[in-house]
Amino acid sequence: MSKTILVIAAHPDDEILGCGGAMARHSAEGDKVYTLIMGEGIAARDGISLEDRNEAQEKLLRSAIQANKTVGASLLEFQKLADNRMDQLCLLDIVKLIEAQIELYKPTVIYTHYPQDLNIDHRLTSQAVITACRPLPGFCVKEILFFEVISSTEWQLAGVDPFAPNYFVDISNFLELKLEALKAYESEMRSWPHARSLENVAHLAHFRGASLGLNAAESFMLGRGVR
Ligand SMILES: [Zn+2]
Repeated sequence: MSKTILVIAAHPDDEILGCGGAMARHSAEGDKVYTLIMGEGIAARDGISLEDRNEAQEKLLRSAIQANKTVGASLLEFQKLADNRMDQLCLLDIVKLIEAQIELYKPTVIYTHYPQDLNIDHRLTSQAVITACRPLPGFCVKEILFFEVISSTEWQLAGVDPFAPNYFVDISNFLELKLEALKAYESEMRSWPHARSLENVAHLAHFRGASLGLNAAESFMLGRGVR
């Protein structure tokens, strides 16, 4: 039976870095995949004019549409919460935005950030999703999976629980699509040996895969599963 999947990411590109392969696989298997991006991904960069910022924002939106199309997902409207300033917003407002989308699309599976990621927006998004997913009677979401975002999750230091995956998706047949989608996010990607390079994305996928005897995988931490 086909499922409805909702991916909730802080910034454009996090969704593909975190679970682009799983999105492509869900889509190929007939599931409906929606992506909700909370922040605009531009504002945190200092020293650019409003005009340049608007242009960069437009370009990033086009990239996001293209990238999500590549993995068979529909991009929901950008929420445009200020990049890396989400901590200045009321958590309840972010929760309400997410609750409204859950109410509308009734996903059974949600993918989002790891709650102890290095990036503040990633942590807040995760917290807001967990709050929006309080399991009240009749609640639609049966599975919440936390993804890792290369160049952020692994940059966290000692003192918090490290990302320790316990749920894996074989993306051997979908790694190419994930890399293709990331090429649409050209402005966000960096050259090897930066952690956020296409090479490193492929390395991580092969590492996660080989940990299980697979060619390529994405790994997650199961937040909650109900069956
Ligand atoms: Zn991000």
